Amino acid sequence: MTGLQHAKVSLSVPPASRAPRDLYVAIGVDCDPDRDAYPARLRWRGVEALPRLFDIEDVRWTLNVRADTQVRQYCGSAAYCWEEYHHIWRLAEARGSAIAWHLHYFGPDGLQDVSESNILENIEVGSAALGRPDVVHMGWTFQNDFSLRHLARAGVRVDYSPVPRMRFLGHGGVDAYDWSRFAYRPQLWHGVKMIPAFSAFDPMLSRRFRTERVMLTMTTRPILYRRLLDDFFASGADFFVSYFHADEIANAVGGWRNRHLYSFDHLRANLDALRERANRANYRLCFVNVRELADILFDEGRTRYA
Ligand SMILES: [Zn+2]
Repeated sequence: MTGLQHAKVSLSVPPASRAPRDLYVAIGVDCDPDRDAYPARLRWRGVEALPRLFDIEDVRWTLNVRADTQVRQYCGSAAYCWEEYHHIWRLAEARGSAIAWHLHYFGPDGLQDVSESNILENIEVGSAALGRPDVVHMGWTFQNDFSLRHLARAGVRVDYSPVPRMRFLGHGGVDAYDWSRFAYRPQLWHGVKMIPAFSAFDPMLSRRFRTERVMLTMTTRPILYRRLLDDFFASGADFFVSYFHADEIANAVGGWRNRHLYSFDHLRANLDALRERANRANYRLCFVNVRELADILFDEGRTRYA
């Protein structure tokens, strides 16, 4: 048989009978205090609801524990969330989930302060509180060359903050960032493995948020999140990173978003929708935590594209 004939034979195999491809899925949770009580005080009903996640069988979560100067300011210690909910973190790790670090660069007034001195102080205080964590997620907050260099110096080896092609101006002086130039692929910056979360193209939402792509958290109403999933499966990528905030599974966000946008049931429905689409596209879903995903994506000894 000639090479050409051979190629024709392989192309004629129907998709369903091909061996499934692996699709690696990592889901992060920003363990922030509840937005409905903030800024008057820090309440943690969202964090307290996290054990509900462990009822969902095969998912390996990455829980991003808040530790920075704002937690110290309100709670007396930057390690408050880490220590107070230690039983949850231990339970998570026993089930294959991972603990990571979530910090904000807030000043004493609660506004984002990205001066170099404030970035340095937050990195130092938070890293010490958690015992030099190696995985970080900034969420809807700032990251730049300076902060990343110093996170690397503090022992961080993986950052899954980037939301490619997105820029966020922040609400009332907090949580601004600019990932508009980050492409949708893993990259190494200052020795830190940078893994992007999936951002979707949606003409309507893009106009509404005035950004090239949009990011929806995994607790978002399924009719919206489905668009992000469809866009992901059209991309052909073999890894998918998504995240949400703890208060979104505990009805502790406050306001209209609490009533109409986020819930634990939505998270379950979105996971089902992900499974169903993966099945249809002949993927084998592999839920991993972000540390495992980093090992897979940056393992140059593996022939992932063979
Ligand atoms: Zn946060």
